[in-house]
Amino acid sequence: MKLLFSLLFILASISLYSQEPSDPHKYNEVDFDVISYNPLIEISDPASKEVQGKNIINLRWNERKIGNEFYFHCEDLIIDGITYNSKIVDPDYTEATDSTDSYYTVRSTDDDSTAIIQISYHGKMTSEGGNFDWGGVHYSQSKLYSMGVGFFNPTVSATRHWLPCYDHPSDKAKFNINITVPDTLIAISNGGYKVFKSQNPYNFTYNWTSGDSEIATYLMTFAIGDYAKVEIPSEDVPVTAYMYNTEESINAGKYAFNLVPEMITAFEDFFSYNYPFETIGYYAASKGAMEHQTMVTMSHSQILKTERNKDSMYSTAAHELAHQWFGNLVTPYDFRDAWLNEGFATFCEYVWIKSKLGEDEYRKDIMKLRKSYITNTAIPEQHIPLYNFSIYSKNNYPATIYKKGGLVLALIYDLVGDEIFRDKINEYLTKYGGKNATTEDLKNIFSDVLDDKFWDTWVYGRGFPQIDIDISSDDENTYVVAKQRDNEFQVFDLELDFSISFGAEIENYKHSITNKIDTLVIPKTELVTNLEVIDNLYLYEIMDTKIITSVENNQLPEISISSNIIDKQLSITYSSDQYSKKYSIEIVTLTGQSLLFDSGYFSGKKNYDLSDFASGTYFVYISDGENKIIEKIMVR
Ligand SMILES: [Zn+2]
Repeated sequence: MKLLFSLLFILASISLYSQEPSDPHKYNEVDFDVISYNPLIEISDPASKEVQGKNIINLRWNERKIGNEFYFHCEDLIIDGITYNSKIVDPDYTEATDSTDSYYTVRSTDDDSTAIIQISYHGKMTSEGGNFDWGGVHYSQSKLYSMGVGFFNPTVSATRHWLPCYDHPSDKAKFNINITVPDTLIAISNGGYKVFKSQNPYNFTYNWTSGDSEIATYLMTFAIGDYAKVEIPSEDVPVTAYMYNTEESINAGKYAFNLVPEMITAFEDFFSYNYPFETIGYYAASKGAMEHQTMVTMSHSQILKTERNKDSMYSTAAHELAHQWFGNLVTPYDFRDAWLNEGFATFCEYVWIKSKLGEDEYRKDIMKLRKSYITNTAIPEQHIPLYNFSIYSKNNYPATIYKKGGLVLALIYDLVGDEIFRDKINEYLTKYGGKNATTEDLKNIFSDVLDDKFWDTWVYGRGFPQIDIDISSDDENTYVVAKQRDNEFQVFDLELDFSISFGAEIENYKHSITNKIDTLVIPKTELVTNLEVIDNLYLYEIMDTKIITSVENNQLPEISISSNIIDKQLSITYSSDQYSKKYSIEIVTLTGQSLLFDSGYFSGKKNYDLSDFASGTYFVYISDGENKIIEKIMVR
């Protein structure tokens, strides 16, 4: 009885919620849900990067109790004071470790279900730094602006460089910001805005709000400068470009962003899902691009180039626009799922190509993407998986999650077909719109049309198959042998499409591969004159294709086999210098099964007993590591 009593006591004291904030790569359930961030910030000299601010945070507790913990992140800024429901409170500060960020803890002082926490702060805003300085606040080309994520910062989210907040994608909130700047400049942020004169006669205050839409902190941004507002003609969603205040810049903005209304229509049609926010804006800056919600940061030099080259696609703008659905409307719980953002946005670049240039161009360009992934990305990025890649990669945004992510979505599209794919994606957007989602959620939506193995192979798994194809025949059949090369990852399931020429006659075949060696047996004996692999959307690389008739070559002239028609014993004669080379010998069936393997430093005559072999045709492969001969033998 005593034991039971104390167990109950212990159980009762364990909170349902973990008492620590989420990590960038691990979502933890927390005590609270932020309802809205309402910052008031004043920047009187953008070049100094100095900010004076107060973030007013409305939140709801999941469980009413005194001592509930609210966490916030703040990088390099000085906290001047915090109030909890108007009472001054002291936060705890927890230093970063290898796997967690530094953060502040504020505890509830009453058991109300909601709270208003006000954080006053000031200081010089910073950025992630390093060679590839991206996340955080930058002053360049007379513009001050922020980028919501970093490439190499362990925190990934970077809004904490200018705004103390619970800087984690799992907690989306409404956003209503007042930015006060000198009246010669304008301030830009997310959503729609009103501007009014502030108390200081030489300042303006810009009020930007996400309205009823929630926004993840990494998608918040601001920009301050002498911007020119360019309205892009649009019938439906208002499109605005904030360009540098020069004629060249404004003209380039008009040209480049003129494509955006058409992009919106293309995506709305493809996913049967309306653009999810009220407006879309793009602002020019020295870096870009970044898909901040409804206010995308674009590289000014790239905008100029788009106009100069008369680029009629501007794929980058389409990519960032697609994020408004994929990443912004449906947001990952944490950055293990960043591929859902980048994979979909990349895939959408090709949806845009398809809508503008047609199916053939779409497939051709997807094949270019596959080639680019295989040649430039896979090996340097260690064949990282799409999901939870950060265990292999210090880079928060490796090219794999873009390229392989786009390829895998294009493959799904191809496998399940146009109608099902678009229905499923619509279901995904409808179900998780305004919320967070994971790879498992997407997988569940496709569960009736794609099995678990698919996701294990292409999303959770590493690598892709490298395949050798041999085609040979005996007097009954033609054999197409597909062999997956050894790799450290897995044996892949995929389909290959071939066209085979039997003289003048050309036939197409589909070959489902599930094993390391898989043989397609075609009941035809006509001489094969050509074999071509027809590109499909699977991710694979064809390494070598061979049509084997009889003796492959004589690159190892020191070796001869006794006879091509064997009764019981195969004799191989080595006339090379004594034991100078290591050889390997393999006898395989026409369907690719290996029946005998031997290797060593051979010289003179070596005999193999084939009395167990069924009568039929076999190949003898002999290799010295560099050169190889293939002999076709008949066992009687
Ligand atoms: Zn992206």
